[in-house]
Order: sequence, then C-alpha cells, then structure tokens
Amino acid sequence: MSLDLENLVAIDTHVHVEIDDHGHTALPQPFLDASAKYFKAGERTPTIDQIAEKYRERRIAAVIFTVDAEKALGHGRISNEEVAAGAARHPDVLIPFGSIDPAKGADGVAELERLVADHGVRGLKFHPSLQEFAPNDGTAYPLFEALAARGLPAIFHTGQTGIGAGMPGGGGIKLRFSDPMLLDDVAADFPELTIIMAHPSVPWQSEAISVATHKPNVAIDLSGWSPKYFPQELVRAINGPLRSKVLFGSDYPVIDPDRWLADFDKLEIKPEVKPKVLKENAIRVLRLS
Ligand SMILES: [Zn+2]
Repeated sequence: MSLDLENLVAIDTHVHVEIDDHGHTALPQPFLDASAKYFKAGERTPTIDQIAEKYRERRIAAVIFTVDAEKALGHGRISNEEVAAGAARHPDVLIPFGSIDPAKGADGVAELERLVADHGVRGLKFHPSLQEFAPNDGTAYPLFEALAARGLPAIFHTGQTGIGAGMPGGGGIKLRFSDPMLLDDVAADFPELTIIMAHPSVPWQSEAISVATHKPNVAIDLSGWSPKYFPQELVRAINGPLRSKVLFGSDYPVIDPDRWLADFDKLEIKPEVKPKVLKENAIRVLRLS
C-alpha cells in the first residue's frame, strides 16, 4: 500500500512527532508545557499510530518529522529511523521526513544518505532557532548539497516560535535565525534545492513573500497559524503570484488540522486556488507522484 493521491482530499505538509515509542519526548518538558500554553493545544504528544489513524479517517496524508536540536538543547532526539518506521507502518497516509542537527557535520551527511537509501526518508526539516544556526552561515551546506543532489526538499521553520515562548529569555531561543531573508542566500547558493519556508513568517511576512516570488525553488507552507490570522498581503499572494507555491500545513499537534481547514474555508480564497493549496502544490513540490 502507498499513497493513493487520487483519493486523498489534502496533504498536510507539516506534522510533528513529539514522542517516540518509549515515551521519550522531542523537547524537554518545560518547553513542551510552555508551547502547549502558547498554542492552547490539546493533546500535545500523540503517537505516530494515533497521528496515522486521525489522518486516515479524514483521507489526508501527512508529512511527519521531529526536530533534532541535540547540541543546543542538550536533550536526546527522537530517532529518525523510528519516525521512518512509524511512517512505514502507515504508508497510505504518512510521509517521513528526517531532521539532522547541522552541528553533526559529516556524520549528519552520512546519516542522511542512510535515511534516504534504507528508510525511505523524503526530505529534511530544519529549525534554525532551535538548532541555533543561521541557514546561510555554511554550517548546514553539506546537508543542503546532499539534499539538492537527491532532489529532496528542505523545510525550514521561519518567524516567531511558540517554543520557549514565555520562558525566561524565551528559553534562550533566538528568533533572528528564523528570518526568511537568510533563506534567500541559501536559495541563491543552491538553485537545485527545494526550500519550503514554514509558517506565515511573523514578523517578516513581506520578506517571505519576496523570497518566494523571486526564487523559483522556494515555496511556503501555511502551518502554525490559524488562517483566521493570515495577514492580508499573504492572502493576496495565495490568490495571486504564489498560488502554485503555497502548501497546506497544520503544525499538528499544536494546531489541529480540523481547525486549520475550517478556518481556511472561511478565508477569501478563489475556488480554483483551494485544491492547489490543499493538495496539488504539495504533490509537485514534494515530488510525490
Ligand atoms: Zn514545525
């Protein structure tokens, strides 16, 4: 069994695995608690099997990943192999991405090669603020090069984050690493790399729209905010120049896909654009067909 693209109603390009099969969480507990409060989220740590069941019921596929920020957080990650194995149990709905802390250097590149060759991993997720690196500082360039060579996309958290929100010093997390303008450098340096800028990039929405407009290899996922709060310039871009470059993403478990979809439905989006955002753009950008 694999993805039945015809029968899916949508593809959620941004879903987090926050707990592994042994109860180990992706984030230290204080960070989980703070972000649950920030997002007013319900269940903060569903298992991969629970995620699959929820999405299967709705005929929605989901890209799943964790975030490896071992160096900055000093907290052991959830294994990429385990995420991929979970996705392999549910190939009709789950698409596995990996996450490799750029601080791992050459070991990280070797891991990516293994994950792609042996575990069916389809791309990487980066969180520059959590991983404490500037996307254009060269640290992650060997990983970008390996992804580009394989035609695999990279998803980057952009903008403000709920992680560390309200904690002393924001949990030590620096927002500037998630400025989308840093990804403009990466897009220029790696024209073959598909870059997905995650989230309405508060407070850099205009910058994100500019980068995605200028660079053919850059797309935007709309996760992490209810569409109710999308700024007007983003709504205009979705209906206009970026209509083929914007992707449905929820950021589940902090935003429930049901809530995202219900709020998206109320947004003034042209009827011919909706199916592109919900499914068609993801099929092309993630090279699923
Ligand atoms: Zn994310």
